Amino acid sequence: MTEPQVRHYDAVIVGARAAGSALAIHLARKGLKVAAVDRATFPSDILSTHVIYPNTIARLDDMGVLDAVMAHRPPPLYTAWYHEGRMFVAPHTPIAGRDWAICVRRITLDGIMVEGARKAGAEVIEGVTVTGLLGTGTEDDPVRGVTAIGENGPLTLAAPVVIGADGVNSTIARLVHAERKRVMPTETMLYFAYWTGVKTRNTQDFFFEPPWVCAHFPADDGHHVITMNGPLTKRAEIKNWDEYYMDLIRSIPGLAARLDGATKVSRVIGTPRLEGYYRDHTGPGWALVGDAAHFKHPAGAQGIGDAFHAAEVLAEMIADGSWRTAYPAWREADSREFYAFCKHLAEPPGNDGTRRLMDAVIHDANLARNLVDVWARTVKPWSDVIPHIPGMASATGASVDEVLAPFEGERLPLAATA
Ligand SMILES: Cc1cc2nc3c(=O)[nH]c(=O)nc-3n(C[C@H](O)[C@H](O)[C@H](O)COP(=O)(O)OP(=O)(O)OC[C@H]3O[C@@H](n4cnc5c(N)ncnc54)[C@H](O)[C@@H]3O)c2cc1C
Repeated sequence: MTEPQVRHYDAVIVGARAAGSALAIHLARKGLKVAAVDRATFPSDILSTHVIYPNTIARLDDMGVLDAVMAHRPPPLYTAWYHEGRMFVAPHTPIAGRDWAICVRRITLDGIMVEGARKAGAEVIEGVTVTGLLGTGTEDDPVRGVTAIGENGPLTLAAPVVIGADGVNSTIARLVHAERKRVMPTETMLYFAYWTGVKTRNTQDFFFEPPWVCAHFPADDGHHVITMNGPLTKRAEIKNWDEYYMDLIRSIPGLAARLDGATKVSRVIGTPRLEGYYRDHTGPGWALVGDAAHFKHPAGAQGIGDAFHAAEVLAEMIADGSWRTAYPAWREADSREFYAFCKHLAEPPGNDGTRRLMDAVIHDANLARNLVDVWARTVKPWSDVIPHIPGMASATGASVDEVLAPFEGERLPLAATA
């Protein structure tokens, strides 16, 4: 049997969606020879409801892919909340002139990202599964590359750094024994379906019907996402997900009315497995980015934005050689407060708390904007929102430290040697 040919790179990235393609773009722009390997071929889909905010839209622009995304006409969206016959709507504080969010299906976004990575000079290898590492990932035997298998047989890609951008079930994390830490359980699950022909305005709409929240996100190419987010405890009683979903939607008149003449074009899909976690971010010859490194409940809608942000930061640190210690330290500082807020987002809403929140924001446009800006990460929940909403601190917890105390366990290894 002939030995697989070894190809040499400055960095090998495993996974080529949000985190992997973004990292490939940033590293290639810095002149590094980069390969991003994915077992999927593109365009293809992945489970996600895919809303992104002005901070992340600016990052798409910076990566040179925003025009291609906007060519699919995702409507610019303000945020609206509905509860007990009342509603508020708010724009975001503009970032690079944009005060809106967009919702772009992953079949659209990820294909554009892969092409963006190629255009930046990275090699994207599709349909190839990484199965092993060169090196065990210890200080004596650092990771030096990956072994992989594709349609054309085995492949060996060598590089001084291998980055796992390979999602929640990361192969790289498993191979370097980076376990989930600081796991934050969820009390809710998220299911959704795609629709076409839905009546809409330029808003992403959240219908609070405790213990459920249903949301409508107008998306790209005339598609719409309609979600149901509710208690895990209901799971056992749901025998037919499509029927349950349709009954729930029909019970919300404001949402049902806009579906007149619309077509549901997918089955109801989703997952109850939404617990948050961190993994160690770096080790000898390896790093993790995107969901492989850190996951938060998708009610926060931060996964894509965080993947882009972390890719940008990690690329800078790989280029200047500081990534082993600086990258985990950055994550700790960047993610802590939003991770704590996710504890609240992962709980089913109640009528009293939602009523108090509506009472406060409905007459206060600044507070309403601050609230929606939490999702754009320009506002911190415990400084700018929670103290201004009567009773909210009793639902969210009084401080970040208080909320995270039960989940702290072992923090990211800030003292690892470079
Ligand atoms: C129900 C749901 C709703 C969500 N809604 C939102 C939202 O509204 N907004 C938001 O920002 N985020 C949302 N998220 C989170 C978001 O989807 C993720 O954070 C994001 O997909 C992470 O991107 P990633 O590139 O890290 O991983 P992924 O998108 O999971 O990509 C990993 C890639 O790695 C590849 N791979 C895996 N193993 C291997 C291997 N061994 N060899 C080669 N390739 C491999 C896979 O094929 C895949 O293409 C949601 C998530 C869920 C579950």
